[in-house]
Amino acid sequence: MKEFIPKVIFIEPDADKYEYAQKILNKFPDVERRYVEEYNEKEIDLFNSIEHPITVGKEILLLRKYKGSFLKKCPGSKGLLCCNYYVINVAMNCHFDCTYCSLQNYLNTQAMTLFTNLDDILNEVSAKINAYQGRVFRMGTGELADSLAIDDITDLSKILVPFFADKSNALLELKTKSNVIDNLKDLNHNGRTVISFSMNPQSRIDSDELGTASLIERLIAAKTVESWGYKLAFHFDPLVYCDTFEDDYAEVIKLIFEYVNKDNIEWISLGGFRFSKEIAGAVKERFPKSDMILGEFWLSDDNKMRYYKKTRKKMYSFVRSEIMKYHKKAPIYMCMESKDMWVDVFGYMPHVEENAEKLFDFRY
Ligand code: SF4
Repeated sequence: MKEFIPKVIFIEPDADKYEYAQKILNKFPDVERRYVEEYNEKEIDLFNSIEHPITVGKEILLLRKYKGSFLKKCPGSKGLLCCNYYVINVAMNCHFDCTYCSLQNYLNTQAMTLFTNLDDILNEVSAKINAYQGRVFRMGTGELADSLAIDDITDLSKILVPFFADKSNALLELKTKSNVIDNLKDLNHNGRTVISFSMNPQSRIDSDELGTASLIERLIAAKTVESWGYKLAFHFDPLVYCDTFEDDYAEVIKLIFEYVNKDNIEWISLGGFRFSKEIAGAVKERFPKSDMILGEFWLSDDNKMRYYKKTRKKMYSFVRSEIMKYHKKAPIYMCMESKDMWVDVFGYMPHVEENAEKLFDFRY
């Protein structure tokens, strides 16, 4: 797995006044620091290079005091069933380099950005959770960044996991393609943190999830955190179709159940590969050898290219039935799929559309 070692650290006003920022800076005593009024890649010499700005950004660390709202409801997609997930924006960007990563288009800033005013973040999360005691929140940090990829640098899990330990109506999900788990060992998690791993066949990891932990490294990490009492989740997202789809994913599923106890799996998500036309441009430009965007896709209502319904249904049905060979009552859900697809694959549709979190009620 690739380590993150920044070439330069940019620091915006006030961002370094927090203990969290100081601890991070102390980990890189020899790395150049640049104090800037406002980080602007158009004015930064490092970006005048033949390398793609996204590649350049992956070696820059930006410390920033964030002034907006840290908590966002997962935007979901137009017309598709959403599971009402909340995203906590503690960081932005990732030093891994998945060919299909939607952040390549989503963000204006390419640097690995850490928001250092953590107290503001935690206060906002507390306020939200406390305001709706009758609801159960699933919250995660793995939307605009990998939750654990640089946890050895940020030690963020040491703050977030104990914070959620006494929240009776919330669950934290740390989602990763890494095996950076050491910090989790002795934390008081009280069963309120789920460690989740993205799953793909090793051949897909090799070709399109560059810099990430191998499949076996992720599974060993899952088994290890399981031994520390954490519950687990697995995300088959993106599911990528190819000629060897069935053999490849059957092998991954077999390995999951060899490594971990099915009873410790809180949920398994399935999501077919989907991408915007901007991401298609980035893949062509940065990863011309990748076959991710080759295949038959159609433009769906949310402006994303998706596999045809027949292919998606085939993928979901296959993966679901393989999982159920090992775990008949596996808590599986589909991410951003239509009601029709739910009926086709699962034979039912989650009952209350606006409140599909009910899907997860049985987990609490
Ligand atoms: S691990 Fe996630 S955030 Fe990082 S490059 Fe891959 S898809 Fe993007």
